[in-house]
This record gives sequence, structure tokens and C-alpha cells, in this order.
Amino acid sequence: MKQKTLLKEVEFEGIGIHSGEISKIVLHPEGENKGIRFLIKGEYIPANYKYVLGTDHATLLGKGGVKVSTVEHLLAVLYMLGIDNLTIEFLRGYEVPILDGSGYYFYKELKDKTLELSQEARFLKIGKGLEVRNCKAYIRAEPSEDFCVVYEGYVRGLLERAKVKYCGNAKEVVFARTFCYEEEVEYLLQRGLAKGGSLKNAVVIGKGFVHNPEGLRSKDEPIRHKLLDLIGDLSLLGYRIKGRIISYGGGHSLNYQLVKSLAESSFSTTFTSSSVSTP
Ligand code: ZN
Repeated sequence: MKQKTLLKEVEFEGIGIHSGEISKIVLHPEGENKGIRFLIKGEYIPANYKYVLGTDHATLLGKGGVKVSTVEHLLAVLYMLGIDNLTIEFLRGYEVPILDGSGYYFYKELKDKTLELSQEARFLKIGKGLEVRNCKAYIRAEPSEDFCVVYEGYVRGLLERAKVKYCGNAKEVVFARTFCYEEEVEYLLQRGLAKGGSLKNAVVIGKGFVHNPEGLRSKDEPIRHKLLDLIGDLSLLGYRIKGRIISYGGGHSLNYQLVKSLAESSFSTTFTSSSVSTP
């Protein structure tokens, strides 16, 4: 598998769900081994777990006194499209536009604009099972010849238990919108979050129903969104993954802990897709 970038520049503009401010980003194609980086106020911030500053309802990266926020939906789509090299420049704002709350518009705009580069993609192989846990929630990483991500969880008042997985079909994941429970809305606003949130970019779940007039895009849409978030956060490893990831009820914070544990595990080995594993 070769590394990829984009054929040409692509722009996205729209409100940031937490900041409530309009953001404008430009995705610039990059050459081999550059990785994915954000560029804001002259500072490059690598899309890497080492730069994670916060995981409260979104993944926040920062370096040199500047920050970029809500990076996970765009990063998930880039990962699923196999794009490894890109500069994401902020022309306005610091939060990736939320668009419709899912990865759908990123996917739609980018899926036919990928460009294969000459170098092989870089992988991290999970050599031994590893688990991170927070109360009842846990995420397990297991050795496997293919890459698969599984998310299991429930939606309070709507869905008792559901299991969804991504094993290569982005269409099963990208459409799923972000969500919150109605009783959380005020609490989020009090804490300066969700200022740009609305029924246009988030599903609001009531007691046994959703407030959005159009309803859910699938009955397990919120679970599929958690899977999208997980894939985006996993991409902060900076490598493609060879192995299986299973999350039960995990969120951004646990995703981050897993990525950090994988990166620092002595059982993880990195290699390029053409070469034999090297430690
Ligand atoms: Zn999300």
C-alpha cells in the first residue's frame, strides 16, 4: 500500500460546533513522509497524539501557544481514504468546521481527489493484546492480519446495545452525525462548549426520541459516530494500524490513552508495507 495525498487543494468553511465561530480551512497536498499537519498562525502542529491538549467532547491539539480543535471527523475520513500527507491550513478560526456533524462532506469532497505517492505507507503492528479502561468503558487492541475497528455501546433511551464495525467500508461510518442528550445541552453551554451546535449539525436525543425533525440516519447512528471518532483519534498514532481495535463505550479520552499505550508499547513494531517488520 502506497502513501497518499490529495490531487489538489480543497477548502472547507463553516461554523465550529464548540467555538460557534466561522472557520475556513484549506487542505494542501504534500509529498511523502510529511505526515498530516495543521498550520495555524505560522505554526505547524502535527496530527499526532504527542500534541493532544484536551479530549473534552472533542480532540484538541496544540503547540507553541496555538491550538486546533475538533480534528477527529476530518482525520477519520483522511485515514479511511488512506491519505497520509497533507497540510491543513486555518485561514480563519481554530476549529475544524463541523458541517453536518458527520464526516460525510469531507468524504464526498475528497474521495475522488486522492493521489498515490511512490513511497510505501507506514504501519504499526499490534504485537500483543493491550487494554485501557475507565470504569466500565474499555478499549482493547489485538494482533490481527487485517485492520478492523469495532465499537459497542448503547444510546440511552433509544438503543439498548449495538455493535458496529469498520473493516474498510467508509460509507458505513462517514454519514453518522455527532450527538448529545437533551439534558447535557445546558451543561455544555455553561462550560463554553457547543456554542455552534444546532439541530443542523448534531442529533439531540430526548427520552425515547430525537429532537431532529428528520430523525436518525440509521437506528445506530450515534454508535456509528463513536466509531468515526475512534478512527479519527486512532489516526493520531501517525501510522496505519495492523491489528484489531475493540471499544466498549470508549470516548476521546480513552481513545487517546489507547493510542499513547500502543505507541509506547514494546510489543508494537513499525514497518513500511513493502518491508519486513523492524522494531
Ligand atoms: Zn465526533
